[in-house]
Amino acid sequence: MGRKFFVGGNWKCNGTVEQVESIVNTLNAGQIASTDVVEVVVSPPYVFLPTVKGKLRPEIQVAAQNCWVKKGGAFTGEVSAEMLVNLGVPWVILGHSERRSLMGESSEFVGEKVAYALAQGLKVIACVGETLEQREAGSTMAVVAEQTKAIADKIKDWTNVVVAYEPVWAIGTGKVATPAQAQEVHANLRDWLKTNVSPEVAESTRIIYGGSVTGASCKELAGQPDVDGFLVGGASLKPEFIDIINAAT
Ligand code: PEP
Repeated sequence: MGRKFFVGGNWKCNGTVEQVESIVNTLNAGQIASTDVVEVVVSPPYVFLPTVKGKLRPEIQVAAQNCWVKKGGAFTGEVSAEMLVNLGVPWVILGHSERRSLMGESSEFVGEKVAYALAQGLKVIACVGETLEQREAGSTMAVVAEQTKAIADKIKDWTNVVVAYEPVWAIGTGKVATPAQAQEVHANLRDWLKTNVSPEVAESTRIIYGGSVTGASCKELAGQPDVDGFLVGGASLKPEFIDIINAAT
């Protein structure tokens, strides 16, 4: 079976009650491809998760933007994987570059989080990607491999993992990777999975691209053989997210 196209919307730390309602209304009214063609997941801030899950059309799932690395308890300010499961939230984004750079999350810590979240029954969008400096130094694949290995070292079953390749230089900058740049890293990453995990995992795992994707850039990117969808930040708050959902149709 082929890899189903996957589109995630990362709302980051944005939104008021009114804005969230307006985004949900737009998503509910939009013409979107069937769930046979595309899997869609939006990720509001924690505080809006129950409302969004309750109001959103059933074809669109929800994700948390993070979760704690182990069982809950005396970890003020954190939200555990168990709580997300208890709320009926099926997905979580882990290892986003903003958490790696601003909150100091190491690759090893992200690997532990991925393993713990999967063990609790969550599905994971695991983010990897290089900085501009690393790209210019020619170490893109070394960085992406190191981040992916930290996950591979801790998990056996990749069924519930989507890997998001998000070059840091493209996130929130308006500088989208060219289709060739994205394809090159996605193909190399798939090759890495083939060699270091298994040919089956390489073939079945969705590798999605994130970094300044818009309604205008999504079609050509979606046409690349190893681009299996998108993780979208800024544009997921706008009506053009509907076009991105439909990019593979
Ligand atoms: C992101 O935050 O995951 C992202 C890809 O953001 P943007 O689309 O705004 O670059």
